[in-house]
Amino acid sequence: MSVPFLSFSPQHDPIREEVLAAIANVYDKQWYVLGEQVKAFEAEYNTFNHVAHTIGVANGLDALHLALLALDVQPGDEVIVPSNTYIATWLAVSYVGGVPVPVEPDSHTYNLDPAKLEAAITPRTKGIMPVHLYGQACEMGPIMAVAKKHGLWVVEDNAQAQGAAWEGGLTGTFGNANGTSFYPGKNLGALGDAGAVTTNDATLDAKIRTLRNYGSQQKYYNEVIGQNSRLDELQAAVLRVKLQHLQDWTSQRQQIAAWYDSQLGGIADLVLPIVATGSTHVYHLYVVRTARRAALQQHLTEAGVGTLIHYPVPPHLQQAYAHLNIPAGTFPIAEEIADTALSLPMWPGMSEAQVEKVAVAVRSFFS
Ligand SMILES: *Cc1c(COP(=O)(O)O)cnc(C)c1O
Repeated sequence: MSVPFLSFSPQHDPIREEVLAAIANVYDKQWYVLGEQVKAFEAEYNTFNHVAHTIGVANGLDALHLALLALDVQPGDEVIVPSNTYIATWLAVSYVGGVPVPVEPDSHTYNLDPAKLEAAITPRTKGIMPVHLYGQACEMGPIMAVAKKHGLWVVEDNAQAQGAAWEGGLTGTFGNANGTSFYPGKNLGALGDAGAVTTNDATLDAKIRTLRNYGSQQKYYNEVIGQNSRLDELQAAVLRVKLQHLQDWTSQRQQIAAWYDSQLGGIADLVLPIVATGSTHVYHLYVVRTARRAALQQHLTEAGVGTLIHYPVPPHLQQAYAHLNIPAGTFPIAEEIADTALSLPMWPGMSEAQVEKVAVAVRSFFS
């Protein structure tokens, strides 16, 4: 039995007829962009995420970019970002001419360390972008307190953590405006690219709705220089079906993580995920760390177990950010995570036997 890194079958097979019927419905209605499906999905996502406004957009990167545009980020404005995030968080800042200012994560949770924020704040700092990495909610209370003290906005990158919470508040509800992604492999995935902004601010909601649609509220009347970043009716129809299962899929991810935790505990050179007090984890990824990462990955490949590395190069060491001239060694925690992290198979419907197969292969490597 081989265990792939990700299989959609247990999620998609049982809802196949329902999804195909939803697609056929859009096909027959002959209305494909910004129609009743997007409107209904936005309302249903508001209910799921306990938020006042959801704006469906083309993808997660656009969601972050549109949030920053609506917040009027200007060239040269500094924005605090995690040193260990997926590059999309940084790219959104760069798109609006802002300067990404990296801050190191907590070395146990891999999330932005609220205690390190103030040292990075300068007179040019405008905002903070916490990323709920791998599916664990950041410590949003302390982060919001720093933001409030310094008059900064907050944009959460909630691409990996739909349904996670910090002290009962759902991710995607703390920041002024927040971006999420429905890329197929995310916890709520479309059948292609899709994303959304969530906000409790009616003014930002109106701005982002206008910006995603050519800067126009009334067709052919353009108020601002907007973009074309709309959620398709087809993707919205699919997302409406899948959203009904998200809570159940999250519980399955948490069960799989618990199985891994109990089967992989006690290995000296293997660090398991650690969940902060007050945070919940929805396990978009189950990431372990070891100094012998390359050899472990090779061993697992040979045993028929799929793994991936999230992420092998931190943004400050990417060629795209060479102009920032940040030498290796500047962000040692991010660099160590990049050198040691390995994501084990994790998908709703993965069986206990499959988890055990992975665990046996991991243990055999270390014994
Ligand atoms: C996936 C992801 C994004 C970008 O989403 P896309 O829909 O692929 O544009 C942004 N941030 C993080 C942390 C992500 O994991």
